[in-house]
Amino acid sequence: MTRRFSGERLLIATHNAGKLEEIADLLRPFSVAVVSAGELGLPEPIEDGTTFVENARTKAHAAAKASGLIALSDDSGIEIDALDGAPGVYTADWAETPQGRDFTMAMSRTHDKLEAANAPHPRTARFCCTLVMAWPDGHDEVFPGVMPGQVVWPMRGEQGHGYDPIFMPDGYNITFGEMDRMEKNRISHRADAFRKLVAGCFA
Ligand code: IMP
Repeated sequence: MTRRFSGERLLIATHNAGKLEEIADLLRPFSVAVVSAGELGLPEPIEDGTTFVENARTKAHAAAKASGLIALSDDSGIEIDALDGAPGVYTADWAETPQGRDFTMAMSRTHDKLEAANAPHPRTARFCCTLVMAWPDGHDEVFPGVMPGQVVWPMRGEQGHGYDPIFMPDGYNITFGEMDRMEKNRISHRADAFRKLVAGCFA
């Protein structure tokens, strides 16, 4: 039996502005007040897991424990078939530079690796998202979501965040970077996980 959300405020355990905006949009119909880990000045825990679930659990439990609030975390990334599932849990790491994260560089790097591997087209891939809701008493609930598609080049579109400009979801001929924010929030990996979270914890 899934534990229900019962509280006045939900802590969104992320320091990623793009994710935060999407999660806030997805939560809007439920009139839950949200506060982010960044706003509360919580430290970013080290994500040293090898799966999305492990990292999402780490973030949610660290935030719930530090704040005393129910916390919702998101661990996500893109898995590319021709790269044996890479970058996967290391999706954000591919963007790291000494000056901070650079997703234009990360997308070029992704394209270079696909070219070097002589990867055939379509370059099938999927965005994955694991949401974890954690309670201060240590309980948690886990909700996975996925959006299949392909990696395209060159980058297209200014919307969204992260790798959106090179991901074309199945059934569309535009990238997430070209897609209206509401539309992405209807079909994305995050929306898929969110539907399960709502059915489990908010319905
Ligand atoms: P993490 O979950 O903090 O490890 O970071 C996941 C990384 O995956 C993000 O920094 C983004 O680069 C990428 N990512 C996750 N979801 C999306 C999305 O919806 N669009 C584009 N990139 C995403």
